[in-house]
Amino acid sequence: MRPVNRISLRTLTISLVGLLALLAVLAQVLAAQYFRGAALAAQHQSLAHIVEVASAEVLRQLEAQLISLGTEFQNRPEFKRALSRFQREGERDALPVALQDPFTHGFVGVRTTDLVKLRIFDTKLQFVAESKSEIDFPPGLPAALLKQASNREGANRLKAVGALWPLEQRAYYSVLLPIGGLKLLGYLEVIADPTINLRAIEGMTQMPLAIYGGEGRFLEGSINDGNDNEGKLPIETTLRDSENETLLRLVSLSDVVQLNKDWQQTIWFAVIGVVVLISLAALLVLAILNRFVFKPVDAMKQEMARFAAGDQSVIVGTHMLFEFAVLADAFNAMARELAIKIDQLKHLSRYDSLTALVNRQHFDLCIEQEWRRALRSHEPISLLMIDVDHFKRYNDYYGHVGGDDCLRAVAEILRQVVQRSTDLPARYGGEEFVVLLPNTPLPSAIALAEEILAIFQQRNLPHAATSLGRISVSIGVTTCNTAEACSPSGLVESADSALYEAKHAGRNRLAVAGEHGVISSCDDCSCNDGKQKPA
Ligand code: GH3
Ligand code: MG
Ligand code: MG
Repeated sequence: MRPVNRISLRTLTISLVGLLALLAVLAQVLAAQYFRGAALAAQHQSLAHIVEVASAEVLRQLEAQLISLGTEFQNRPEFKRALSRFQREGERDALPVALQDPFTHGFVGVRTTDLVKLRIFDTKLQFVAESKSEIDFPPGLPAALLKQASNREGANRLKAVGALWPLEQRAYYSVLLPIGGLKLLGYLEVIADPTINLRAIEGMTQMPLAIYGGEGRFLEGSINDGNDNEGKLPIETTLRDSENETLLRLVSLSDVVQLNKDWQQTIWFAVIGVVVLISLAALLVLAILNRFVFKPVDAMKQEMARFAAGDQSVIVGTHMLFEFAVLADAFNAMARELAIKIDQLKHLSRYDSLTALVNRQHFDLCIEQEWRRALRSHEPISLLMIDVDHFKRYNDYYGHVGGDDCLRAVAEILRQVVQRSTDLPARYGGEEFVVLLPNTPLPSAIALAEEILAIFQQRNLPHAATSLGRISVSIGVTTCNTAEACSPSGLVESADSALYEAKHAGRNRLAVAGEHGVISSCDDCSCNDGKQKPA
C-alpha cells in the first residue's frame, strides 16, 4: 500500500479546507500589519504637517513681536538723540550706548523673546553701529536678509523683512526695519534666538519636542535620548532657509500606545471574525461535500467491496453527481458483463461439451449434495450407471465422428427418459453415463432402467459391428434406502459393480445391486431381447 492510498478523500478535503482557512487567517494578520504601517505613516504625515504649520505660526508671531519691539525702540528718546547727533555731526559713539540700553536696563517685550542683538545700517545697508553680544556676529547683514532687502525700490524699501539664518550650529531670526518714518534714515536689525519661541509648539501640538541645530546639536527641548521613548512615534520636521539648507530640526514624539492598543484590538476582531466566517463556510462546504461526494463514494466503495466478495447481484446506485454517476454506470456495466462471463465459465465447468449433459466433476458435487439431503429427509436415493455396449467396435466401424454422434444420441435418450426435475443424467466419462435419482426407491429405478433399454430397442439405432445389429447399453442399478448406511462413492461403486455384472451376463440388460452388495441381473427383463439372458 502506497502512502497516498492511506489518505481518504474526506481526510484530504478536510486538510485542504483547514489549510485554506489557516492561509486566510495568515493573510488577514499580514494585511492588518500592513494597514497598521499605513495608518502610522498617515498619522506621521498629518502630525508632521501640524508641526510645520505650528512652527510657521511661531515664527510669524516672533516676527510680529520683533517688528513691534523695533518700532518701540526707535521711539526711545535716547535712541532718537543719538541718531540725530549721528546725522547732524557724524558722531557715532552715542549709538552703541543707545543700542546696548535695552540689554542693560531691560525693555518691554523682551521677556517673551530672546533678544540677542540690535544693529544699525545706513540707507545703503552699510553697517553703522551695534549692541554688544556674547557671540561674535559676522559684520554686515545675514545673507538671507540682505537678499530680501537689497534691490528694493521706492516704497518697498520702507517695508520690514524677516529671515531665519544660521550661525555656529544655531539659528537666529532677524527683522530689518526702516528708521525715520517716511523719510528713510537707515535700518534697524533686531536679532533674536527663536529657540524658546519654538518651544511653544509643544503646547500647540500636545507633543514633547526637541530642537536640534546644525550637525545635530541639541539646543532645547523636553525629549532626552535617555528617556523611555517606547510606544512613541517620532515626528521630524525641518526649518530651512531660502536656499533649502536645513537650519533647525524639530523632533516631536507622538504617543502611539493607544493607537497600538486600538490596532491590536482591531486585529483580534478581524482575525476572530475571519475565523468564524471561514469556519462557517468550511462547515457548509464540508456538509455539501459530505452529502454529494463522501457519502456516495462510501456507498460505492461498500458496494464494490461486496461485489469483490462475490455478490454479483450488486448494483451501484447512480443518484449522484455527474462524474460519480458515470463511474457507477461504468461499474454496473462491467459488473453485468462479468456476471455473464462468470455464468458462462460456470456452465463450461459444469457441462460436457460433446453431449451437453452435466460432467463428472459437477455430478460428484451433486451426488454429495443429494446424499446429504437424503440423510436429512431419510428418503431413498438411486443411481443408474449406463455403458454403451461394444462401443470400441462402433468407433472402429463408424469412425470417431460417428462415435461422437452415437454418444450424443445416447445423451438425448437419457434426457428424454428422466421426468423429474431432480433426476440428473450426466456423462461419467468415455461412453459411460449415470442417472442420479433422488427420492427414488429401487423399483422405480429398475423401471427407469427398463424404460431406457426399451427406448434403445425401439429406436433400433444401427450397430453393424455386433450380432444384435443395433446400439444397446448395459445398466447397473443401485439404491440406498438409508443414506447413513452408504456414501456417495459407495453408491457409485455399487452401481459400477452392477454394471459389470450386466456386462458379464451378456450386455443389453440391467443388473441390480442390492443394499448389501448382492447383485442380481435381470433375467426376465421385458427390455431384454431374450437372446442374452444370463447363464
Ligand atoms: P463393452 O461392451 O465391454 O463396454 O466394450 P466397449 O468396446 O464398449 O468398451 P471399451 O472400454 O473397450 O471401449 C470404449 C471405447 O470408447 C474406447 C474409446 O475409444 C471410446 N471412447 C471413449 N470416449 C469417447 C468419445 O468421446 N468419443 C468417441 N467417439 N469414442 C470414445
Ligand atoms: Mg466402458
Ligand atoms: Mg462399453
